[in-house]
Amino acid sequence: MDRKDPIIIAGGGLGGLTTALALARHGFTVRVLEGAPEFGAIGFGIQFGPNVFHALDRMGVSAAVQEKADAPPAVLMIDALNGQEVTRVATGVPAFRARFKYPYIIIHRIDLHNVLLDACRRDPLITLVGDAMVTRFDEGGRGVTVTTEDGRSFHGALLIGADGIRSRTRAQLLADGDPRRNGFMAFRTIVPMADVTADVPRDIVALWGGPSGHLVHYPLRQGTLFNIAATFRRTANSERGDVEAYRAEVDQAYREAHPSMKALLAMLDLRRRQAIGDRDPIRHWHKGRVVLLGDAAHPTLQSLAQGACMAIEDGSCLADCIADADGDHEAAFRRYETARSLRTARVTVESRYMWDVYHADGIAREVYWQMLGERSEADTFQCLSWLYDGFRLPDKAALSTAPLRG
Ligand SMILES: Cc1cc2nc3c(=O)[nH]c(=O)nc-3n(C[C@H](O)[C@H](O)[C@H](O)COP(=O)(O)OP(=O)(O)OC[C@H]3O[C@@H](n4cnc5c(N)ncnc54)[C@H](O)[C@@H]3O)c2cc1C
Repeated sequence: MDRKDPIIIAGGGLGGLTTALALARHGFTVRVLEGAPEFGAIGFGIQFGPNVFHALDRMGVSAAVQEKADAPPAVLMIDALNGQEVTRVATGVPAFRARFKYPYIIIHRIDLHNVLLDACRRDPLITLVGDAMVTRFDEGGRGVTVTTEDGRSFHGALLIGADGIRSRTRAQLLADGDPRRNGFMAFRTIVPMADVTADVPRDIVALWGGPSGHLVHYPLRQGTLFNIAATFRRTANSERGDVEAYRAEVDQAYREAHPSMKALLAMLDLRRRQAIGDRDPIRHWHKGRVVLLGDAAHPTLQSLAQGACMAIEDGSCLADCIADADGDHEAAFRRYETARSLRTARVTVESRYMWDVYHADGIAREVYWQMLGERSEADTFQCLSWLYDGFRLPDKAALSTAPLRG
């Protein structure tokens, strides 16, 4: 494969942009097609575990991302009913940094996107094409042709589907139906820190867990903004956009919540809600010259705050595999799948487990709280090490002999 033949990426989200950077660092020409009129992010916060920095380092944007981010002293889990601390991960202690090498960060998605977009725009090998909603692809001869909603077509050597949980690339490639919705809906809000009246810690990441839903909050932009994401079990068939009905659902769900949590719930912007879901993990994300990554390949629940981290690790890994394969895209894609499928499946499976923990009721809840409460700092770091130690591309020889099943 000639590195000048463009590689097409469908989707300019965090996965698509970071993959473009990783490929360009290897000398590939890349064209990113984004369906929205403009490249950009929805304006809320995001958390990154230290693992993501192994990949961001290789893309040359790690320092710029850290500059825009805050590093919280701790991530706390709080009982939504009585307000008591259940457990904490001490992300700010020197032992965390010593153990995982990089910080745990929180960052405004717009700031993050801008860092990535700036880096892409500075790279002459990357072309960003907005308003280009990919509707189908056709493979033929030595490449793949991608068609957009407005009838344009783009030709490239390979197509990478980074088009998110409702991926059209996946729909055509695998035809395996819709993601699994789990009956929960999320509302996200950012307010000026000065407007926060709730009696809650402001400098940490806090997760309030309760039977009907969970709520996460943390500061952004050096403590000037306050980010709230609340996720609720759907209890009624409210009309889309019916804010009053949403408010009634939220109030009903958390009628027994701790007063501080109720004060947070009162601050929610209920105009837009998002259905939550994931997919059962699979081992193969490619056919021919087309391959998937990020949420298109393995969407996960947000309980480990790792969906975007996995998309970014995917992009770094896929670029390395393509660069290392000497034009053999089939070998590159197989190596990428073998390298990534178990780790991303573990994120999906553990996220489902943590989801059940956050929303447990009755005596099961007490059991989980007891288990979490018994953990020492060292135990917690050990539990997180498979994830936070980061991802390194396994040895090529070892991968080529690994069995391909499923
Ligand atoms: C409430 C909530 C909180 C979360 N918090 C975290 C967190 O703290 N940390 C974390 O790591 N993850 C978090 N996630 C998960 C994270 O947001 C996703 O995993 C991540 O955004 C996936 O990145 P992606 O690039 O694969 O897909 P997306 O971010 O969905 O990007 C896909 C892009 O493709 C574009 N697109 C879609 N279809 C087409 C098409 N046909 N043609 C062209 N372009 C197209 C879209 O416009 C979009 O720009 C959270 C998720 C939710 C719901």
